[in-house]
Amino acid sequence: MAASTISRRTLLKGSGAIVVSLGLSRLLPLPNFDRVVTVAARTYSSFEDVYRQKWTWDKVTWGTHLVDCYPGSCSWRVYTKDGVVFREEQAAKYPQIEKGVPDMNPRGCQKGGCFSEVMYGSERITYPMRRAGARGEGKWERVTWDEALSDIADSMIDAVQSEGPESIIHEFGTGEGGTVHGSLPSWRLVRLLGGTVLDNNALTSDFNVGMYETFGKFQFASSIDDWYHADLILLWHMNPLYTRIPSAHYITEARYNGTKVVSIAPDYNASTIHADLYVPVEIGTDAALALAVSKIIIDDNAYNASFVKEQTDLPLLVRTDTGRYLRQPDVEGKGREDQLYFWDAAKDRLAKASHKTLRLGAVDPALEGRHSVTLLNGSTVEVEPVFGLLRKHLEAYTPELASKISGTSPATIRRLAGMVAAAKRVHILQGFSTPKYYHGDLMERSMALVLALTGNFGRQGTGLRGHNSSQLVMANVLKGKPGLEGFMEISNNQVDIEEEAKKHDPNLTPEMLAIAVERAEARTSALSPLPMSNMLVPPHFFWYWHAGYKDVWNNRAWADTGMKRTFDQYFNEAIDKGWWDDLAQPARDQIPQVFFGSCGNTLRRTRGGGKLLLENVWPKYKMVVTIDFRMSATARQSDIFLPAAAYYEKTDFRFPTAHLNFLVFTDKAVDPPGEAKPEWEINWLLAQKIEERAKVRGINEYRDRRDRAYHFNGLLDRFSMGGKVGPLESDKIAEDLIDDTVRAGALPEKTTLATFRKKGIVRFQHIGVDAVGQNQATDIHPDKTVNPLSWHVEDKLPYPSYARRIQFYIDHEWFLEAGEALPVHKPTPRMGGDYPLTMTSGHQRWSIHSMWVTNTVLSRTHRGHPTLFMNPEDMRKRGLADDEEVRVKNDFDAFFVRVKRSPSSRPGQVIIYHAWEPYQFRGGKSYDFAIPGLIKWLHLAGGYGHLNYYRWNWVPQQVDRAVPVEVEKLT
Ligand code: SF4
Repeated sequence: MAASTISRRTLLKGSGAIVVSLGLSRLLPLPNFDRVVTVAARTYSSFEDVYRQKWTWDKVTWGTHLVDCYPGSCSWRVYTKDGVVFREEQAAKYPQIEKGVPDMNPRGCQKGGCFSEVMYGSERITYPMRRAGARGEGKWERVTWDEALSDIADSMIDAVQSEGPESIIHEFGTGEGGTVHGSLPSWRLVRLLGGTVLDNNALTSDFNVGMYETFGKFQFASSIDDWYHADLILLWHMNPLYTRIPSAHYITEARYNGTKVVSIAPDYNASTIHADLYVPVEIGTDAALALAVSKIIIDDNAYNASFVKEQTDLPLLVRTDTGRYLRQPDVEGKGREDQLYFWDAAKDRLAKASHKTLRLGAVDPALEGRHSVTLLNGSTVEVEPVFGLLRKHLEAYTPELASKISGTSPATIRRLAGMVAAAKRVHILQGFSTPKYYHGDLMERSMALVLALTGNFGRQGTGLRGHNSSQLVMANVLKGKPGLEGFMEISNNQVDIEEEAKKHDPNLTPEMLAIAVERAEARTSALSPLPMSNMLVPPHFFWYWHAGYKDVWNNRAWADTGMKRTFDQYFNEAIDKGWWDDLAQPARDQIPQVFFGSCGNTLRRTRGGGKLLLENVWPKYKMVVTIDFRMSATARQSDIFLPAAAYYEKTDFRFPTAHLNFLVFTDKAVDPPGEAKPEWEINWLLAQKIEERAKVRGINEYRDRRDRAYHFNGLLDRFSMGGKVGPLESDKIAEDLIDDTVRAGALPEKTTLATFRKKGIVRFQHIGVDAVGQNQATDIHPDKTVNPLSWHVEDKLPYPSYARRIQFYIDHEWFLEAGEALPVHKPTPRMGGDYPLTMTSGHQRWSIHSMWVTNTVLSRTHRGHPTLFMNPEDMRKRGLADDEEVRVKNDFDAFFVRVKRSPSSRPGQVIIYHAWEPYQFRGGKSYDFAIPGLIKWLHLAGGYGHLNYYRWNWVPQQVDRAVPVEVEKLT
């Protein structure tokens, strides 16, 4: 062995057994067996040499992790020796942005710190594999790339011929963090084939529905250093010590700066320990708490009247006879139905609310008081500002009444309201938990109300966290050719659509125009110069028609008690009214044929999917393909596995976020092991193979259900952007992304790929040109932390909501029917039956996403198996001991897990942090087997201003929080 020159790279070409041994070899001081032996010989004479050898390397490159560990974007130095990555270190290169505000360094978490362990871990798969037994049986055979791609290509051609191209289903998820590789090449290929790409935000349920309902967007967020400016931080549905490890230092630093921190949560979690005040709240009752705080602020006249009048819909007039806004056709018999009115207190008469600006000028909108208005038909109606309605509405939320719902004492509610009213800058740090509650939208609307009443938007240190990933101009990858031509081509089409939109409404802001373009794209693919299917489609039709969710969503015992009709009645009405026209794909009679998954883990993530997808849609699939670098739950249930390159084995950028405003680079440090390939190359080869197989089979033209024509001939040319980018030339895409982004003004001039190879990170100087970028609605200054919405608050540009203001009153017919025109508290439906315990969740500290959860090193930092956190009193009642295996059940199904004694969990609450792989549970049944996967019927609403599909924004998504369960002792 001493004479051997076998490196670990060579070993990875070997069998799976050898791959396992590599994990052990990492424990040795050097990543090369022959050198280990050599050094071991020296050990007896000079131990210093061992140490010196350990700290040598061949090269150092930049690295980051292409996963949605939001906001991620941590820059690392990656050390390589003998073709093997053997360590990584936080780069800590983030400059201080604003004088007096701490920098972002060092950024990183324990998952990133051991990504090289995942690269060489036993879960890594490095060869194409084909199922050799039944799906999920675990029997595989190694095949060549040609064999694997031929099988996939033939199945896709079969699907096109038998059911139409929409029957090819592409899903991706939180592993999609790349901007060159990751999901984008598969996304592009499936669209060029006319297939179905499901909206990834709806799949992950990370969309802040209530924020969207309130602002007409949820894609805005401050930079993390901006937290430092807050006087008061409310950790509300966020546990940053678990989920924001690289960013949480700002909370501690802010406290040194005098900031008060309040933790509002059902459990005394890891972040609560670092708060000044803990506000305990019953699970799912946050809206009641927030509405009580709002009531106190209004009753105490502690609200910011000028902000409320200028920025919100609270001064807009509502007809007391119908509960609808007073509209121009009511008053004039014609005109815009979205032209709404104030009552001008200065002139004691009606005044139109401007569409052009939020600036009020001479108008002084009344916030209260009833007035009579004569309609065109001569009749008289009473109108009242929303604020007046709100004041009455909040009578149901006195601290005493709210306390009965939320369990928070009236004194604590008053104390919290006092802190909010007294602070000059309040920032609510809310995570991705609210969107996963059935009535999470009501919680978010109520939290937004607290901040809007106190003017806490659009200034440094204020706001409510959304999600934003834009800035980088990626249109070329998604929609056209690389280079200058590609960008301009899209821009020209965009100009046409914008011009058309302006004809209908000359007052649309650039942000609204960008959203209009998105909506046009979503429905017609109008922007694409190539034949392509929709960019994304909402998945609820797919789930309902093809995956067995119809029965679950129609179960009256589990349903929202506020529903006046059946789920199906709402579902069908939404279709009949055309609210989702062109988006119901695949059609109800189109049987899904091919599942093509990349950068996601569908069978782990889809709520209830481990049961319902496997039972209902998996048997329909003729081919299931997973592209991944490791064996996930979905890969185990696939027919073909295609091995992808990992994060240090390709050139890429982590998708940027407004939380950082840096573009963070990862470089190819080493070749992918075995026969693994970067996703661009994989999809390039697949495009080539599909075209080749179609030619052999004599098939060319086909049409989708909307009669759009596609051709197999020339598929590779279209995929490779006019033949300009070869399978191994993905650097060209990276160069082009930068080029286009510089041209758009979002990155500094003269930034190139070489700049990133030198510096690793570059800060954006602009929010970006697409709709999501525009949703930030703010400037990026070189020396200031970034806070969104300043274009509204300072420059008075209207919001993209129906009312063009921060909108708390939604007079859509369904919202009126639901009693949710104003934010209200509603109990979470008993989804799963009537059981005494309530199961909640959150990202776990040790994995964030499932790609790390099976890693040996990380498993050693905790119990290493799935765990259900449970209050000791609940355990005592059931005679349970710590780490005892139990059965968790409800009417949907059941799963087995070990309990963890957790005094900090709320009595009655059980917490299972995700994302465990289902195969880590007995029988492969994870916690998902207790989650039915409901969507809120109200989110099927459409045809009302911003309540119209806009990718990632207005789309129904499944919920998984506050599920009733019982925990049973095993006999
Ligand atoms: Fe940062 Fe995410 Fe990597 Fe952790 S896994 S170091 S949060 S990029």
